[in-house]
Amino acid sequence: MKIESRLAQIGSQEEPVTGAVSFPIYQATAFRHPRLGQSTGFDYARTKSPTRAVLEAAAAELESGDAGFACSSGMAALQTIFALFSQGDHLLVSLDLYGGTYRLLERIMSRFGVSASYIDTNDIQALEEAFRPGSTKALLIETPTNPLMMITDIEAVCTWAKGKGILSIVDNTLLTPFFQRPLELGADIIIHSATKYLGGHNDVLAGLIVTKGQELSEQMAFLHNSIGAVLNPQDSWLLMRGMKTLALRMERHQYNATRMAEYLQNHPMVEQVYYPALPEHPGHEIQNKQSSGNTGIFSFKMTDARYIEPILRHVKLIAFAESLGGVESLMTYPAVQTHADIPEEIRRQVGVDDRLLRFSVGIEHIEDLIDDISRAFELAKAEVEGGAANGK
Ligand SMILES: *Cc1c(COP(=O)(O)O)cnc(C)c1O
Repeated sequence: MKIESRLAQIGSQEEPVTGAVSFPIYQATAFRHPRLGQSTGFDYARTKSPTRAVLEAAAAELESGDAGFACSSGMAALQTIFALFSQGDHLLVSLDLYGGTYRLLERIMSRFGVSASYIDTNDIQALEEAFRPGSTKALLIETPTNPLMMITDIEAVCTWAKGKGILSIVDNTLLTPFFQRPLELGADIIIHSATKYLGGHNDVLAGLIVTKGQELSEQMAFLHNSIGAVLNPQDSWLLMRGMKTLALRMERHQYNATRMAEYLQNHPMVEQVYYPALPEHPGHEIQNKQSSGNTGIFSFKMTDARYIEPILRHVKLIAFAESLGGVESLMTYPAVQTHADIPEEIRRQVGVDDRLLRFSVGIEHIEDLIDDISRAFELAKAEVEGGAANGK
């Protein structure tokens, strides 16, 4: 079955009693046992809960994995995955990393003796040099990265990791299984902030883990239940409801983001656009090889940092807000928001500087979005030039 059909039908055929096409929200935390030694398959909701179970099965299937685990947020999913590691373990991690993941590793996991090195994961030689025999246990990548949209060749690094006997973990938040399925390219674990494209409406906080292989799936089930950062039934339902339209939304996000990136690329106030769909992007070919489409977010660098503040003040349709992946367009300033927890030297090294804006292009009409941003740009330019003329 094609992925569009699977998505539209999430939970539609699983309710055997009434035939409800929308799977019910089972709020129960306790489940009656028929008799001693027997179970309906459900005992206690932290371990397994009916609405969440339908979501988890769909997530596993969509990512071509063996088991899915729904968590209370993307960070909860990452924390659950990191619980695989023990004191003295070391991870190799993408350089331009989601700020919250960096914070979790550096401020919390480090206290438990788990360390990380941040590397350009597309450089196998750099991975080789950072690899510590005996202590390096996993590779964690984001591709594309956020906000700079750097692309890692998933198959190449997973093959390398397999050769070293370490796990490959891919944060697939930005592309979703609709456009990219890293488990098919050799990865062992997928993590999602389902708060973003999977949920898609800026109204549910959730995380997903998908594992490949029986042993790893059993280990993750143990951690998921033991840690308990699981997704509640209401939000499990809301996430499934959002995922039904993922295919349509991703196609529209891609279309709008591509048109917007092309518009900005030709704008004299913009120095550079970072979007893998553009042929000049250094990761363009690898992206096309391993993914069937492009995400709806990208970043761009203004020619002058003074434009940033008035642009964020003058956009109207586009909201100045953190997060990404929803139907509404959002713009954020990574240097002071999402990436504030990453030290300035690392931020500068990867290029997250004070002229960079990140744009999560929604599914509004592209002409309205271009009108909004071009008006904000004009007003910003007038203010900056007026301020300069007044000697400010
Ligand atoms: C948002 C995000 C996370 C964290 O997920 P939450 O749902 O906010 O906890 C992790 N990775 C990436 C790439 C993200 O964008």
